[in-house]
Amino acid sequence: MTKNAPDNNAPRPCFLHVWLPCCPLMAWLLMLILWALRCVPVAADEIAIAPLVASAKRAGLRVFAGTHLTLATDRAVREGDGIEHLPQLFDQAFTEWCAHFNLDPAKHAQWQAFGCLVVDRERFRTAGLLPAVVPDFANGFCDRNRFWMMDQSSPAYRRHLLLHEGVHAFTLTLRSLDTPPWYTEGIAEYLATHRIVAGRSDAAQSPSAANGAFESTPIPFVAADVEQLGRIETIRALHVANRAPALADIFNTPSADHHNLGAYAGSWAAVAMLARHPDYARAFAILERGPLDQTFTTRLTGSADWDAARAARDFAAFTAEIDYGYDFSRSAIDWSPGLPLAQQRAMAVAGNRGWQNSGWRVAEGSRVSFVATGRYRIGSLPRDVLPAAVLESEAEGISLRWYRGRPLGKLLIAQWFQPTTGDTAQPGFRVVAEGASGSFIALADSTLYCKVNEPPGELADNAGGLSVDLVPTPEP
Ligand SMILES: [Zn+2]
Repeated sequence: MTKNAPDNNAPRPCFLHVWLPCCPLMAWLLMLILWALRCVPVAADEIAIAPLVASAKRAGLRVFAGTHLTLATDRAVREGDGIEHLPQLFDQAFTEWCAHFNLDPAKHAQWQAFGCLVVDRERFRTAGLLPAVVPDFANGFCDRNRFWMMDQSSPAYRRHLLLHEGVHAFTLTLRSLDTPPWYTEGIAEYLATHRIVAGRSDAAQSPSAANGAFESTPIPFVAADVEQLGRIETIRALHVANRAPALADIFNTPSADHHNLGAYAGSWAAVAMLARHPDYARAFAILERGPLDQTFTTRLTGSADWDAARAARDFAAFTAEIDYGYDFSRSAIDWSPGLPLAQQRAMAVAGNRGWQNSGWRVAEGSRVSFVATGRYRIGSLPRDVLPAAVLESEAEGISLRWYRGRPLGKLLIAQWFQPTTGDTAQPGFRVVAEGASGSFIALADSTLYCKVNEPPGELADNAGGLSVDLVPTPEP
């Protein structure tokens, strides 16, 4: 949650901001004096943190300082909870945030935020560190470079929340962010999502948690890295319930709706697709480096390259297939219409990609027979079962492991389902056939797609593929 309105501690523009532009000589002299004194004025839109730190110390709060974050907390000392390392984690994330927005960290070396990790709000009110203008937030709240967050039982979620509010502080001040809520919250979720990696060269200097270092993972790899976050599970549950949000709905989500998990999950998913899908990433990065203002969405959707129907379908395909480690580069879909399947045709299916366009289109109600041949690498056995053992599969899949109700590696043939007005079902691929051979009735006038059944985050270690013969077959 963010707030742009000034609060009781808003700094007044200091005299430097008034006089510096008027007289270049005076400006240089003053800058020289300031440099000598190591006293750098905060920007007019940032809150001076020194008085806040002093108040926290006077009130007996624990205070931990890094380069870019000073954190005050009333949380009791608990061995091994890693609270003292949170500012170092924040500093590592700060570098990533600068890279995302193409900012030079050296130019913002003096930027600082002040965070309150709160167990008892009353202690912070008494200390003058929780002004009455701050609303009664559930988890966190940010005002420029100052934020508050309630303590969390899960260390992973505590770190996530700290970084989420930190991204707000960063973007509100260094990027003057004032965007529609889906981007404000989506980018905070996107840039806060991380895991702790042990053994990196900088881990010894910055042991942020469990002797590990920050690694940005906008699409988390495994659930254990993001305990209690639940974004992927939320979207999957919404999809199963036919309530997954469309991209256009997310763009229009009002700020007031960002109090439920679904809205945060949808905003994160929208930013994740636009930032990582190979067909959107470049234009989105350019857009993000421009003004982050209220025209952000209309500048995105109004650009000459934007195809709203296609973006809606790409987003629906992403949310339908979403999983840990979702790999956009291997799951991007070629939507070009196929040619009519008038005679037997062969299609090559790569084992290491998501849904693949067959190049052939069939008419609704027509019957198609198929035969698949080939053998492909589908992964490896877990190291604790049999080290270095490669798993191979043919079109029937392997029963050693199942994914979404089917054996791993099984060939799937599908058509895209696009609901019409009044249809409550979600758009997505509908499987019409599976396995090594058989026949099916086409569900729609549309192109056939194929893939092998596997979580989208595990495609990278596959190799080889299948050849599938598609044969239009008259009804007997
Ligand atoms: Zn937020």
